[in-house]
Amino acid sequence: MNVYMKNNQAKSPLLFIDLNNFAAYPTLAVGYLIRSLRTAHYAVNLLSPLALGVPAFARDHAEGWKDQLLRRLYFSSHPLLNRMHDRLRNLHSRWLSHPHPLMIKEVHEAIAKRPAAILISAYLTQYEMCVEIGKVAKAAGIPVLLGGPFFNLSNVTKEWLKIEGITAIVGGEVDFTVADIVDTLLAKGDLSQHKGVFLPNGKNGGIVPPLKALSMLPVPVPDFTDFPWDKYPHPIIPTMTGRGCSWGACTFCGDVISANGRTFRSRGITSVLNELKQQSETHKSKDFIFLDIKLNSDLDVWNGLIDHFQEFVPEGRWIGTVHVNHKGDNGLSAERLKAAKKAGLTRISFGLESASQSLLDEMKKGTKIEKCSDFILAAHAAGISVRTSMMQGFPGETVEDLRQTNIFLKKHFHALDRVRLSLFKPLPDTPFDRMYQKNPDKYVSLKQFKWDYKLARGLYRYHPSRNKDYRKAKRELLKIVYAINKKPLTDDARQFNGMM
Ligand code: SF4
Repeated sequence: MNVYMKNNQAKSPLLFIDLNNFAAYPTLAVGYLIRSLRTAHYAVNLLSPLALGVPAFARDHAEGWKDQLLRRLYFSSHPLLNRMHDRLRNLHSRWLSHPHPLMIKEVHEAIAKRPAAILISAYLTQYEMCVEIGKVAKAAGIPVLLGGPFFNLSNVTKEWLKIEGITAIVGGEVDFTVADIVDTLLAKGDLSQHKGVFLPNGKNGGIVPPLKALSMLPVPVPDFTDFPWDKYPHPIIPTMTGRGCSWGACTFCGDVISANGRTFRSRGITSVLNELKQQSETHKSKDFIFLDIKLNSDLDVWNGLIDHFQEFVPEGRWIGTVHVNHKGDNGLSAERLKAAKKAGLTRISFGLESASQSLLDEMKKGTKIEKCSDFILAAHAAGISVRTSMMQGFPGETVEDLRQTNIFLKKHFHALDRVRLSLFKPLPDTPFDRMYQKNPDKYVSLKQFKWDYKLARGLYRYHPSRNKDYRKAKRELLKIVYAINKKPLTDDARQFNGMM
């Protein structure tokens, strides 16, 4: 029994505020933490935006002309549009980060009930909401722990620790230690004794090393019972077979520097299959989303899912993200993809980024464009809906790179269901950051470069994008992406659309 239960039986429970509104399914990390706290006998009340009627941010929704107009403005680099473009971008990010009135109201009411402590799970776009929670909590004298996927990055944490009312920031995988941290918080002890805890006075417990004992995680499984299942358009259960990525080398990748993405660790197939069965029975759903950043990292697990998913969840369906690595077996042959479809794999996502091999090599993507082509065609032929993420404006991207990408997309138009196109975003602590620091002169195309640590991203202007031919090729790319994203989806794929 923890200190809180021994000494404060009559105190109010903990308030857990999950600010994640980017997905129409429970937040996996929060499910793990709630399970750990309840195992340590803490009472927890969960506040989640969707439960209050705050609409979830939909990814990959059916696109219309407004989406294309916004995309054209967002990607525009016409010299005359640049200023307006910056203002629109700022407005858009302020709109995204603006706290929803319903959420503010509910936070005030929940804090008025005087929880013993508040735990916040936040993304970096939710700064304003955290400021609001900190203000109300401080006035009420209630301690606050703030956590999220990027608070293991010291420059980011330093910025966020400036928020008044935040007692400490927790950055790292604390699945097994969160109850001890809360014990110390409630006992007003020294929180810097805990690894991964950072205090406004500069004291901290140091970096938490990546959690090794992943096979112990599902005992018991994450607790999703407080999430608003009735509000989800389709009940889909999130899960993860491992953390990190077995490739882990892409120079731009923010996933592998996040708290639980550092180094690859697999849970092993047995615990995963048992969890699928148990969660399916608990939540009366047979549909799963695998949140692994590379689901084919551990081929035993990938093949195990294909060979045994239906034994554990008969008639179940699943979706996930893979990496089309070119060295050795990647588990994505036409035969394996056919078997995966039979095993319930309904939609698959992968990062194409670009169809220019030289640019892919520059990104250290670890893939060959011919392999990506084979994969797309084989997955489509197997009846799996294929979605890809792509990047525009990677340093060094030329008109020719864009042209190659456009040709590739046209050739695979029939086999691609959705494309998520983003602008290159430099992230701190990535290999790109280190390469830039070492040799900024190599990146002549990035003008006025500076870091915004509050949002954990680099701000810059991409010089080649002022060129007329480059802009023409980019316009064509946007047109093809829009045409793909307007395509109707099969019934199965539609139910999973917007989830990845
Ligand atoms: S394969 Fe994907 S998850 Fe792995 S490092 Fe590259 S972008 Fe990141």
